[in-house]
Amino acid sequence: MRFEFATATRIVFGPGTVREVPAAAAEMGRRALLVTRRSADPERLGIAGEPFPIHGEPSVDLIRRGTQLAREAGCDLVIAMGGGSAIDAGKAIAAMLGNGGDPLDYLEVVGHGRPLKKPSAPFIAVPTTAGTGSEVTRNAVLASPEHHVKASLRSPHMLPALAVVDPELTLDLPPALTATTGLDALTQLIEPYVSSRANAITDLYCAEGLRLAATALPRAWRDGHHRAARTDMAFASLLGGLALANAGLGAVHGFAAPLGGMFDAPHGALCAALLPHAMRVNIAALKGSEGLSRYAAVARILTGRADASPEDGADWVASLCRDLEIRPLGAYGVRPADVPALAHKAAAASSMKSNPVTLTRAQLEELLTRAL
Ligand SMILES: [Zn+2]
Repeated sequence: MRFEFATATRIVFGPGTVREVPAAAAEMGRRALLVTRRSADPERLGIAGEPFPIHGEPSVDLIRRGTQLAREAGCDLVIAMGGGSAIDAGKAIAAMLGNGGDPLDYLEVVGHGRPLKKPSAPFIAVPTTAGTGSEVTRNAVLASPEHHVKASLRSPHMLPALAVVDPELTLDLPPALTATTGLDALTQLIEPYVSSRANAITDLYCAEGLRLAATALPRAWRDGHHRAARTDMAFASLLGGLALANAGLGAVHGFAAPLGGMFDAPHGALCAALLPHAMRVNIAALKGSEGLSRYAAVARILTGRADASPEDGADWVASLCRDLEIRPLGAYGVRPADVPALAHKAAAASSMKSNPVTLTRAQLEELLTRAL
């Protein structure tokens, strides 16, 4: 057995832990850039700093503006509070503050892909959804509108200095957001588990995260103020982030990158629409091979049945998507005519490299067509 595992320097988890952020911030820097989804007053939160409210998912240009504002305002620390968009934005700004230059110098796929050689500015991630796990990952997904694609800034230096995961921050998430972010979390527990890069530690995290999410996700969707279900989902999402940062993802995220670049749809909604179909196509492609046993294990955990087949796991996920009112990709404007170009881009996406089996162009197109 040989593996590597890396994560945020420090993780603080639990109800009410958000109140520890101001003291931690004061130890880590003099003045913070506070990245949030809605406008927030840092002083009111007890944080010395400059607000940087963002709208939608982060773009290369947003990172340029945030970095410039942080420099002009003398910020030596970045705090992001929000969903994956805010956390990825904060993470990317912290990386640019530490390294200088332009985001396109370092961006994968559409940029120059140069390594980020210097440490990021100190960065605190405070998730307010239970889905992305971005508080413990080493990449930030950025949109490059002129390229119609999303691509990552990625570096071990981008792992946050502090992740504060407070389940109470998710109590007021509306059901639709609970569903899509929760299915992103579920995807991020299944894909690292079946990944070609899975390891002994990530296996433990995925198995426990799947066990918790199977019960907690439908419960949190029905009753947003169910504290135990919200705590389990916050923990499951964290476990997914720990796993994906070390074991990679797969076909769902391989498609989510180009889809998110071409269509105006949240990442979680795309992953949710793709997940059951990606499972079925992967299971069919793995027939007769060793990798299928991983899908059988996923099915046993999700269904709670010792005799569950790999297909039963995919059926369970499809049924959950129906219960949680997940919309197909067609609802976001994806048409059959878009399939060939998307399959072409997905084949080159970084997440596709750890899919348990290399899918042919025909299999990629079939997967996407089923999700329409
Ligand atoms: Zn995701």
